[in-house]
Amino acid sequence: MSKLSFDSKILHTKYTKPDAYNALSMPVYNSVAYEFDSAEQMESAFTGKSAEFAYSRITNPTVQYFEDRVSIITGALSVTALNSGMAAISNAIITIAKTGSNIITSRHLFGNTYSFFANTMSAYGVETRFCDLTNLDEVEALIDANTCAVFLEIITNPQMEVVDLKSLSKITKQSGVPLIADTTIIPFCAFKAKEFGIDIEIVSSTKYISGGATSLGGLVIDYGDFDWMSSPKLHTMAKDFGKGAFTAKLRKEVHRNLGAYMTPQAAYMQTLGLETLSLRYEKVTKNCLELVTLVEKIAGVESVNYTGLPANKYYELSKKQFGDYPGAMFTFNLSSREACFAFLNKLKTIKRATNLFDNKTLAIHPASTIFGNFTPEIRKEMNVSDKTIRISVGLEDVTDLYADFVQALV
Ligand SMILES: *Cc1c(COP(=O)(O)O)cnc(C)c1O
Repeated sequence: MSKLSFDSKILHTKYTKPDAYNALSMPVYNSVAYEFDSAEQMESAFTGKSAEFAYSRITNPTVQYFEDRVSIITGALSVTALNSGMAAISNAIITIAKTGSNIITSRHLFGNTYSFFANTMSAYGVETRFCDLTNLDEVEALIDANTCAVFLEIITNPQMEVVDLKSLSKITKQSGVPLIADTTIIPFCAFKAKEFGIDIEIVSSTKYISGGATSLGGLVIDYGDFDWMSSPKLHTMAKDFGKGAFTAKLRKEVHRNLGAYMTPQAAYMQTLGLETLSLRYEKVTKNCLELVTLVEKIAGVESVNYTGLPANKYYELSKKQFGDYPGAMFTFNLSSREACFAFLNKLKTIKRATNLFDNKTLAIHPASTIFGNFTPEIRKEMNVSDKTIRISVGLEDVTDLYADFVQALV
């Protein structure tokens, strides 16, 4: 299998058992429970001595096949598919955090992730230390014996901030702290998290992977490189499971108890989504760069923020980490909130909608929507401006997207 290229591996992942009807795509196993031939076989499955399917909250053939495909293409030790990106984040954090531990991250986070740290986890005595992750001295100074993770988004949404991952992971490795990264913005066909020292990768597979906003999903990808002996919570498990301690805690306890496993229908759609991931990613990112270059020149556009533009502050770093086409999301600023609303209201082709990486191009005013329930002070700290519009570029012809911009900005 390892001899095949990325795209071929995606298409030719083998089933763990031959399908009864030789189905060419993995069937949707909607069954909740699975029958056993004997009480002994049942005992062995329930006590973890054999890997058999018992109950679909814990594991399911269709979902496992999706997980296997992601494992094969990423080279991960284990992949766990959850019901949404937020389920992936919460399952991963609950696996490593306990009362008294702290997480170091930036305020530049997806809105619900910020709220999960600031509100949900803080109620259980898990402290979140928000800092400037681009300032590595600040990160180093904040790490202590109770730090259970450094968490980040590889390109922050909507600020588009980029951290030097190799330098950051050097610090986390020296300090014995796992680096957890939400890589939703650049899928694994274009960004190899493991090569940048990321220990646990989180993906909202709702976005690129689902193949056009077909279903919600999230992935927790464990690269199996981290020594969990230094983890405040997992060091005892590390004695039994070594580098597999995180996966053991997640799979044997946390994910079963939280009950947010991916549904077989979503896994089926996202397995198909994976088959066209590279193709779609190439097209939307080329569209994005082309559109950004055109939008920059339209009168009334104050600034455009995309790390693939040579004038962007993060251009060199972004190119080194993500290549010439860093994702299909960009933001731009108009003169005021009113100008943003007027632009959105005039759009004809581009859809007014949240979500990212649908096949259709989407536009949103983050300050009044995703971040609308935060106070203006917190929005300021999060660097979410009233003058910003976020665009997620789809598969349309760029000429049509540009024409829509031009007519909406007159
Ligand atoms: C959308 C998104 C999430 C949350 O994913 P859901 O599937 O909507 O739960 C997390 N992180 C980032 C960067 C996202 O864009």
